[in-house]
Amino acid sequence: MRTPLIAGNWKMNGSTALIEAFGSAFASATLPAHIDIVVIPPFLYLDAARHAFKNTPLQLGAQTLNPQHSGAHTGEISGRMLKEFEVGYVLVGHSERRKLYRETDEQVFDRLVAALDVGLTPILCVGETLEERDAGSTMQVVLRQVGHVMARLEPAQRLQVVIAYEPVWAIGTGRTATPEQAQEVMAGIRAYQAGFDTSLAEQLKLLYGGSMNASNAAELLAQPDIDGGLVGGASLKTNDFYAICQSA
Ligand code: PEP
Repeated sequence: MRTPLIAGNWKMNGSTALIEAFGSAFASATLPAHIDIVVIPPFLYLDAARHAFKNTPLQLGAQTLNPQHSGAHTGEISGRMLKEFEVGYVLVGHSERRKLYRETDEQVFDRLVAALDVGLTPILCVGETLEERDAGSTMQVVLRQVGHVMARLEPAQRLQVVIAYEPVWAIGTGRTATPEQAQEVMAGIRAYQAGFDTSLAEQLKLLYGGSMNASNAAELLAQPDIDGGLVGGASLKTNDFYAICQSA
């Protein structure tokens, strides 16, 4: 049985006030017993969140990390530092980083390995653009991104990775993949993993991301291969995020 995971990616949004609001709202929240909930604020808010979320089920994630553990990398944050602040998860390969900061599959791999090295759970983000979907190459693109990382990991490392399928055309656009579209790709990712190891494929946690909200979450999360969600815009409102967690 895979534990559902709902992760809220705040991107470059939020404030100390929002951290406090989440801390208060989730301290008294009644949530399903077996669910992991992760809030992923900008780096600067991680320490405040660590304190504000103490009496809540909320765990912490980071939006990226440097592949090195320390050194002359001005402006960067390492996995080791994240661990010191009780961060458990880190996004790697988010489409905004791939596009705006030109992160390549190779750099995504290096970051993911750095995360595994220090015991962070990487959430590997993959997904096709609209042009790639229209050209019929969705599965090819997604499996290239997944394969570039997973094929080079040791079996024990593969078990630590969470994969988020986020069609780029659905991120921040209000246009969600249909549950059938999402399920089709998820099943393809799981089948690819089964090529390494069927028990790993069974255990692999797969999240859907792309305009998930309180109204569409239940239907998406009901798909057999969707184990949770990576939520952007709707994770910035306590009520919406809470409602999505309730659907898991
Ligand atoms: C995301 O940033 O990963 C995301 C899914 O954003 P949104 O939910 O806003 O589409």
